[in-house]
Amino acid sequence: MNRLTDDSSAFTHRSRNPNSRFAASIGLGALLAAALVASLACARTEPVQPADLVLMNGAVYTMDPVHPWVEAVAVAADKIVYAGTTKGAGRFQGTATKTVDLNGKMVLPAFQDSHIHLIEGGVEASLCNLAGLDTPEAVFAAIKDYAARNPGDAWITGGRWELPVFPRANPVKQDLDRIVPDRPACLFAADGHSAWVNTRALKLAGITPRTPDPPGGRIERDPKTGEPSGTLRESASELVAEHIPEPGAAEVLKGLRTGLEMVRRLGITSIIEANAREKLLDAYAALDRSGEMKLRVLASLHVDTDRGLTEVARLEKLRSTYRGAHLSSTTVKIFADGVIESHTAALLEPYLDRPKDRGLPLLEPEAFNRLATALDAAGFQIHIHAIGDRAVRMSLDALEAAEKANGAKDLRHHIAHLELIDPSDIPRFKALGVAANFQPLWAYPDPYITKLTQPILGPARSRWLYPIGSVLRTGAVVAGGSDWPVSSANPLEAIQVAVTRRGPEEPAGQAWIPEEAAGLAAMIAAYTTNGAYLSHEEGDRGSIAPGKTADLVVLDRNLFRIPPSEIHKARVLLTLFEGREVWRDPGF
Ligand SMILES: [Zn+2]
Repeated sequence: MNRLTDDSSAFTHRSRNPNSRFAASIGLGALLAAALVASLACARTEPVQPADLVLMNGAVYTMDPVHPWVEAVAVAADKIVYAGTTKGAGRFQGTATKTVDLNGKMVLPAFQDSHIHLIEGGVEASLCNLAGLDTPEAVFAAIKDYAARNPGDAWITGGRWELPVFPRANPVKQDLDRIVPDRPACLFAADGHSAWVNTRALKLAGITPRTPDPPGGRIERDPKTGEPSGTLRESASELVAEHIPEPGAAEVLKGLRTGLEMVRRLGITSIIEANAREKLLDAYAALDRSGEMKLRVLASLHVDTDRGLTEVARLEKLRSTYRGAHLSSTTVKIFADGVIESHTAALLEPYLDRPKDRGLPLLEPEAFNRLATALDAAGFQIHIHAIGDRAVRMSLDALEAAEKANGAKDLRHHIAHLELIDPSDIPRFKALGVAANFQPLWAYPDPYITKLTQPILGPARSRWLYPIGSVLRTGAVVAGGSDWPVSSANPLEAIQVAVTRRGPEEPAGQAWIPEEAAGLAAMIAAYTTNGAYLSHEEGDRGSIAPGKTADLVVLDRNLFRIPPSEIHKARVLLTLFEGREVWRDPGF
């Protein structure tokens, strides 16, 4: 889909051959024609304002379908003033211009991450971190070590334990009691949808065998005794989490700074914050006001779906409060379901191992339709978490109901995650103008898929896991995000996996469900132009053309000239945000 129609003219007007205009004028007479030639010649040599920076001799991939490749880019202040040949860029070199010979290195529009929990990830970085540990013993040792190093902490919290490490993704309290006997512990799973707690935490929360499962949650129990076994799913985690002292404003700010430091190294200059509550919004607003936030943030305001339509007025107030130079809050976030691994994703047909269980939708369809219609009427862009095929269908139904009631409004609603889509729903994205916001780094058969997902879905449904290729073929807009800290925020790893459908570290080989592999160009678009489109900023960024904001990255290699299995090895050498260097590799 060409999202650049408006801007490609801005791109081409500098490089268009003036002879066509001349030819049209020749009938006006020799005098007039001569005058025109003179004026064109004059226009051609007219001195231009020197640029601050000229990148030359590069492989510049512009994302403009008319001129996808150029050699050079010139930047003045915060704007791109030229994109074309190296020779043509010479015109922009003044005495103070900094010139970089790229020697074939690649330039791309800087990346957008369209689903990231930037502050939570940053805050978590200083808590107990179990990410990537692949045996129970390694997890136990890391918790023990953290507890010993932090004797003053009232709680042991943090987590990101990988679900496949424990049988049925179900760690037990006895193991945690052994390691942390002296204080409450609550460690969240890598996907954030489960919490592993010890006996002290259960006691503190008053959870006993008689405690019923809360709405939208499940207390895992010993099948014989009914005793809570130590894993809490979805809203049941809240029963314990609400007792954990919240991070203070200073810790939240520190978390945001940690997040900002990470993304600029990855070439990311824009994000959609996936789930923002007021405390996070305060932090974004503070660093935006101080000029420290060299990142464009579109915050998805957390919707408390239990409060129904009364939420709309509250969200409208937040939207007008939290906006600034690089911050807007015109999006809202709704959770439609949980995740497949813990049987909380809402499925059309039951889980194979639980014949009566079709998962846990977090809204009734009627309420969902009403809420989406009201939010759409209020002009909000709706960003939905949907994992199971029933949740995806309910989400599309709700967005369709909104369009029927309010008419098409170009709000660019999007559904994130999309782990399982029923094939009959795939054409509906394009038809309804709903964008697919995938987390492509999840689209390969890791143990989450092989141990915890395929066995409970069966082969027929598993064919439709992360159907990125099918959605692309319908012409729907596909954007990409990391869901960091759930998984790595490096867009290059995600782009590679979407293309190869293999693990980022795996060598070349057979793709998993090869029909669903994506092309490299489509995936670069997902992290550039289509991200800008989701943020309603495609006129200003997401591609490289004169007049656009100079958000650029330089990579150490041309992604189109290397085997796809090596894309994740590419390094970001330079990140420009509004023309300013926010990251430079020390070796560049
Ligand atoms: Zn998320």
